[in-house]
Amino acid sequence: MRPETKFRAGFVALIGLPNAGKSTLLNRLVGEKLAIVSPRPQTTRNRITGVKNLPGAQIVFVDTPGLHPGGGKLGEFMAKTTERALEGVDLVCLVVDAAEAAAPDALTLAPLARFDGAAFCVLNKADLVRPRARMLPLIEAWRRAHPFREIVPVSALDGSNCDRLLALTVGVLPEHPAYFPEDAATDQPETFWVAEVIREKIFLLTRAEVPYAAAVRVTELTERERPRCLYLRATVFVEAESQKGIVIGKGGAMLKRIGTAARRDLEAFFGVKVFLELRVDVRRRWRRDDRALREFGFRLTS
Ligand code: GDP
Ligand code: MG
Repeated sequence: MRPETKFRAGFVALIGLPNAGKSTLLNRLVGEKLAIVSPRPQTTRNRITGVKNLPGAQIVFVDTPGLHPGGGKLGEFMAKTTERALEGVDLVCLVVDAAEAAAPDALTLAPLARFDGAAFCVLNKADLVRPRARMLPLIEAWRRAHPFREIVPVSALDGSNCDRLLALTVGVLPEHPAYFPEDAATDQPETFWVAEVIREKIFLLTRAEVPYAAAVRVTELTERERPRCLYLRATVFVEAESQKGIVIGKGGAMLKRIGTAARRDLEAFFGVKVFLELRVDVRRRWRRDDRALREFGFRLTS
């Protein structure tokens, strides 16, 4: 007789400070290359960054806006957004840089304050914690900081304990049929994701009103074999010359920072070297233009 096995599926958000290792961990958990799928408004308002299929379970990873350590209005805004993004997820994994974080801090924990679902504390970069016994007081400290279901030391870099993290994750997911067909790697051009990453960097780096006036269109996405890399070209559209000036910066410095930050993230996500060429163009009133919105791949999610 076959034992009755119920399928489990659910949404998991990886949150944590920049540099904690979220992208690396996501890559590690989902596999070599991310399965990028479009958001399903009926299931989540978050962008889905990867789907991990396991025997008897499907884990859907969702992206949340990064936490910003700067505080102030932007930090506040981002904390709020993160908090909202957590509504409706089945598990939150708070990723912590165990090599850096001597003690739990308020900023890291803030998004969990009003979240009453299951949360794990993932103490990442365990490979850097020496001697290993140093991990014990750390585990204790995080255990006291929040009622985490599990506290799991891992190394996203060398993969140690990541299988255990997956198994524990499956354990807290509800019984639910798979949200996505197992072979549905993508139903959304990867260009959408690339554009989102660039937009995020514009948001983080320019801070002004520019981000809301900026749209990104990826004009080329080519995989090259020797050497293996991803060649990307994208245009940032803004609404006014003044905004163009801000995005480009003195002597092109801002555009360079945006490009570098975006490239770094994209390399972590795609797992290959990325060449990214950015240009900036003015297109007035694109926000009021339906066709432009569709063309830029915008969708209203909330
Ligand atoms: P994110 O900002 O949270 O997405 O962090 P990233 O995934 O971009 O990682 C930030 C940096 O930490 C990168 O240089 C990673 O290579 C490094 N990193 C991530 N996970 C580990 C780990 O487990 N061990 C070590 N030694 N480095 C890691
Ligand atoms: Mg990242």
